[in-house]
Amino acid sequence: MAETKIPRATAKRLPIYYRYLNILLDADKKRVSSTELSEAVKVDSATIRRDFSYFGALGKRGYGYDVEKLLSFFKKILNQDTLTNVALIGVGNLGHALLNFNFHKNSNVRISAAFDVNEAIANTVQSGVPVYPMTELKKQLMEQQIEIAILTVPTSVVQNITDELVDANVKGIMNFTPLRISVPETVRVQNVDLTNELQTLIYFIEHYGEQLGGS
Ligand code: ATP
Repeated sequence: MAETKIPRATAKRLPIYYRYLNILLDADKKRVSSTELSEAVKVDSATIRRDFSYFGALGKRGYGYDVEKLLSFFKKILNQDTLTNVALIGVGNLGHALLNFNFHKNSNVRISAAFDVNEAIANTVQSGVPVYPMTELKKQLMEQQIEIAILTVPTSVVQNITDELVDANVKGIMNFTPLRISVPETVRVQNVDLTNELQTLIYFIEHYGEQLGGS
């Protein structure tokens, strides 16, 4: 399905807009100006107007944006009106935490199948999600038409599992390991390295602290 090609930075802001618009809708607000939106979501209003213009949306001078229209528009773009099923591979500590996390609360995404090589956990149900043995990976993904996978496996096996996912026609992988995986161009990877994020935070705080100390 060909859709409007939008810059990555714009795409990343869409869920933020979407959430805030939902808050406005709940509060019975019919319209919102780009300035109001800007203050609420901490994105400058010129950027908001530019972001919205990629969709040919929809503001009127002196009126602002129609909340409901904007929402239904974003809903489609963000696929919020269709439930997206996601697979999780590796039900260890982090995997368990993600299974317990209620993605569904703020989005129309849910983990609907999990996989693990450990026989003690395969063929059980964890946090309401069935855990399948790895031997069933391709079969289940194809049958359940799952195109997105979360990887919370040890680094040593992550590339092999990635290859299996590619073979099962997965289109997107969220990689929680520190290893950068190789995929064909048709597959999108989002890396989330929690240790790295924390170290970056610590670095900035230390750096900032030094600057303060030195001044
Ligand atoms: P973490 O906190 O990173 O989840 P952990 O200590 O709980 O770590 P790991 O050794 O990182 O456990 O393994 C995570 C999960 O991945 C475990 O449940 C393990 O059984 C599973 N796993 C290991 N190898 C494979 C594999 N080849 N295929 C699928 N799952 C695997």
